[in-house]
Amino acid sequence: MLQQKKLILPFLLMAFLCLGNVAATLAAELQYTLSMPEPHTHYFKVEADLSGANKKYIDFTMPVWAPGSYLVREFAKNVENFEATDKSGKSLRAEKIDKNTWRVYSNKADAVHVSYDVYAFEISVRTSFLDASHGYANGTSTFMYPEGYEKTAGTLVVKPYQGWDKVSTGLKSTGKFTYTFPNYDILADSPLEIGNHPVYEFTTNGVKHEVAMYGGGNYDPERLMADMQKVTEEAGKVIGELPVDRYVFIVHNLDHGGGGLEHLNSTTLETSRWNYGTEAGYNGFLSLVAHEYFHLWNVKRLRPLALGPFDYNQENYTDMLWVSEGITSYYDDLIVRRAGFITPQRYLDIVASSISNVENTPGNKVQTVAESSYDAWIKYYRRNENSNNAEVSYYTKGGVMGHLLNMDIMRSTKGEKSLDDVMRYMYNRYYKQLKRGYTQAEFQEGVEKIAGHSMDDFFRDYVNGTKTPDYSAYFNAAGLKLVNENADRNVPGWGAATAASDGKVLVRAVNRGSSAWEGGLNVNDEIIAINGYRIDNNDLSRILSEHNIGDKLEVLVARDGKLVTLQVPLLKDKTIRYHFEEVASPTALQQEIFNKWLYIKNS
Ligand SMILES: [Zn+2]
Repeated sequence: MLQQKKLILPFLLMAFLCLGNVAATLAAELQYTLSMPEPHTHYFKVEADLSGANKKYIDFTMPVWAPGSYLVREFAKNVENFEATDKSGKSLRAEKIDKNTWRVYSNKADAVHVSYDVYAFEISVRTSFLDASHGYANGTSTFMYPEGYEKTAGTLVVKPYQGWDKVSTGLKSTGKFTYTFPNYDILADSPLEIGNHPVYEFTTNGVKHEVAMYGGGNYDPERLMADMQKVTEEAGKVIGELPVDRYVFIVHNLDHGGGGLEHLNSTTLETSRWNYGTEAGYNGFLSLVAHEYFHLWNVKRLRPLALGPFDYNQENYTDMLWVSEGITSYYDDLIVRRAGFITPQRYLDIVASSISNVENTPGNKVQTVAESSYDAWIKYYRRNENSNNAEVSYYTKGGVMGHLLNMDIMRSTKGEKSLDDVMRYMYNRYYKQLKRGYTQAEFQEGVEKIAGHSMDDFFRDYVNGTKTPDYSAYFNAAGLKLVNENADRNVPGWGAATAASDGKVLVRAVNRGSSAWEGGLNVNDEIIAINGYRIDNNDLSRILSEHNIGDKLEVLVARDGKLVTLQVPLLKDKTIRYHFEEVASPTALQQEIFNKWLYIKNS
């Protein structure tokens, strides 16, 4: 999978090599052991036993990234004490041949044993963490794979710290703390939560769902399980089949945090442990549940061509994260709405606010949503002070694209079809029938098939272009128009994000085309005084309210230790604030589409 055969090899020889490889893979056996004798030191001990390889040397490689999180994270940086021995315990020579590969000179030994320690102290859904209270091991930052044996099945034995008696993972169990995996992809894709956490359960569509709750919090387990059950059931209706026989939620309840990472039959969610106490926090958590759970279909099975089989050694480029992530974002709040946790009005507010968010991002006019997907590795995951000017989020804009596609389809089919039909069609065609990923052209074809007309303009202008859609024309299908509350507001704006730090007012970001941008304010400038008066961070909005568009302010800043005086012209605040309004006298069809879209049952 990783090492491509040289193309210049004659076909027969190539076939022979491939067969040879398969034979070696079939004969080989692989076992990993994960232990944690001193969890307070944050080191996992990993052992891998490969037998039946009989090779001159074997390369053990640590992935550089975790699928679902598109950043090269260099997990090999946390590896220490790599050692290799043969069956008799005799030491085998091992050397690093690149940043994440250890070559073990096995000299045709029948069995090779390697061991290493992994420092695990980065608490996030995509890394590994171990302390005196629990262990969380993500396959990609824990287990190296022997190259050429990625398809080899194996076992994993977990040795929890003494007194810890729970392991939660999507891996198939064959005994206490013993698991099997059919290939490395599954091992890498099945994080393990290890400790004494409570585990709750519920059943959706006949499938047992386990919820491992680490960290405590103000949730009521009974209510939460009932609500997660409703969310998963509603999510399952989109595609109409649940392709797992078991599903595991690992929930990290932390002092603060948020996010999730999807896996084939499990997910890890991170949330603030006191979030459950407010309506917004609680519904936000359900939306996260819906998001990661919907990935079970969208991206873990229905996937862009580049996202599987994974190359763990480098970036895997795709221009389709706006579908994998954006359309999943489209579904997360929609599923929560369909399950009845938020009102239609609240849902409309969420949609209007995400459109405002996209249109208020200057980068939306610089980067297309397809480019945003492609460059996730170097941009979305590596944001800096200028990101808003240069980038658009494939999550937010992708979600907005989902709404426009859905409205287009509902209008074209008179409410008979929706984006759900596209997702169902794509899932059946590419995941089930063709058993491969799809390209952007194929996704467009899928939309066209359901909508019944060409989508060339849409993909040219909005997916591969930065044109501003006529939103109201789209939402007219449901009898709605999008209204900018700020359209008639003639007030000046700063266009700079500032923060108070140690009594200083510091510029954190400057929006392209704003007053701050035109006046030459820089990120990291300390704003000391305006028009001769010393200011603090709260004065900035007062000063704006006392001036008009066209006024000039004299702004004294400290920049790299020098005082600089700037003349800042006050420009109109162009911030958009959309909300939906009903069109005058909506037709019966518009009303019907509105009700179908928002799951309003006719009384
Ligand atoms: Zn996602």
